[in-house]
Amino acid sequence: MRRTDVTARDTAPAAPAQRGVPTTEAWLRTPSAAPGVLRVRPLTGEATASYVQRLATAYRLTLSQLLDGAGITLTGHGTLPAAELHLNHNAARRLAALAQFPLPHLKNALPHLALPGDAHGTEAAAHWKRLEAEQQPLRACTLCTRHRSHDATDTAWAHPAPQRLVCPRDQQAAPDPRLTTTVHTWAVPELAATHHAHQRLLRHPRAATAWTTARAITTRWYDHQQHLTHRWHTRLNQLYATNPHLTTTHSASPTLLARDLVIYPETVTLAVALAALPNRPHRNTGNALRLIAHRLGLPRLPLNANDPLRVFLTHTRH
Ligand SMILES: [Zn+2]
Repeated sequence: MRRTDVTARDTAPAAPAQRGVPTTEAWLRTPSAAPGVLRVRPLTGEATASYVQRLATAYRLTLSQLLDGAGITLTGHGTLPAAELHLNHNAARRLAALAQFPLPHLKNALPHLALPGDAHGTEAAAHWKRLEAEQQPLRACTLCTRHRSHDATDTAWAHPAPQRLVCPRDQQAAPDPRLTTTVHTWAVPELAATHHAHQRLLRHPRAATAWTTARAITTRWYDHQQHLTHRWHTRLNQLYATNPHLTTTHSASPTLLARDLVIYPETVTLAVALAALPNRPHRNTGNALRLIAHRLGLPRLPLNANDPLRVFLTHTRH
């Protein structure tokens, strides 16, 4: 019998701490802990290590106990989000069997699972690999995670697509991998509205390039304190007021930790405006600038010759 609701935990064996650590194999042989009894759905873009950890937590095992029980040899050490778990093809197949999901389904959800070209050999192996800062996953929405973890944990790490920065239902976001807790966004309602505007932008054929360009421009403006500084400062303070951990628990600058979230509304607005521009050199950059200033709610947009928006409008769109 497959049970997928939280009551499955009521009949699960006591936590290892209460009765000594059982061998994983013995534990997995107990009827209530058979593979697939707890079906833990992956989050879209979830880090492999995060999914394996959540699966292990649902079974009240450690990550290495779960891998061991599945016959997967683990080497190295690591922790999320600074490291990712790499599984070879055989290990990925065993994980999919344990999780009771078809392997293609799991690969689709976990972008780092089973890199192509390692299908040879019979061993099922996993190893930890350190990640550069820009490759690290972000904390996923705690409520969405809890919902998908049989209430066993609210912690997951994922590589969200840009349009998934904010969870509009639960009003949470994690704009930087250095944030070990999510940021509550309910004090800044325009962030949820921006989420929906971003989904509409995706229908445009030039959405991806417009987004990349817009984000580079607004990031530069933010770092150089240009054009929208007052508005962004106000928004930052609204986030500080409702998220004290932003200013107290990190060694990194909270101004940088929150950057992607603070500039998000203007980034999407600018991307929408850029996507709508004719895809040819603009004869009259002034007209385009007036239009963009209007969209951003600014009386004018005085740009020096090096401003990334001016450079884009005058040189890049050929
Ligand atoms: Zn959520």
